[in-house]
Amino acid sequence: MRSCDGALSEEAALRPDSAQRCVRGKMEAVRTCVGCRSRAPRSSLLRVVLRNSELVADPSATLPGRGAWLHPVDECLDLALQRRAFGRALKVQEALDPTAVRAALRPRTAPREQAEEAVTSHE
Ligand SMILES: [Zn+2]
Repeated sequence: MRSCDGALSEEAALRPDSAQRCVRGKMEAVRTCVGCRSRAPRSSLLRVVLRNSELVADPSATLPGRGAWLHPVDECLDLALQRRAFGRALKVQEALDPTAVRAALRPRTAPREQAEEAVTSHE
C-alpha cells in the first residue's frame, strides 16, 4: 500500500492515470473510512490530507503525503472527529481544523428528510 502511494511522484503528476496502474488487476483499491470504519472503493471515498495543520479535501487523491479516507458525508466526518481518527491516520497530535473538509462534502439533503420524518412521526 505504501509503495503505491509513494509512487505518486513526478511521473504520476504528469500522467494522473498512472497512479491507478498500481492497482492490481481490475479490482479497485479499497480503503477504510476513518469515520464509520467500513471499507469502500477509494473512488467512493474522499481523500483528506494535512496542509499547514489544516485538513483539506483531496478529491483527485493526488496531493502528496499521508492521506485519510472518508465517506464524503457529514456523518462520517463527525464520527472521525469524535474519535480523533484524522490525527491517528495522519500521525499528528494537534487539533485539526475540519472546516475545509466539511465544505467539500456533498451538499446534504437532510433538512428535507428531517421535515418528512417530522411529518410521519405523529403517531
Ligand atoms: Zn464512512
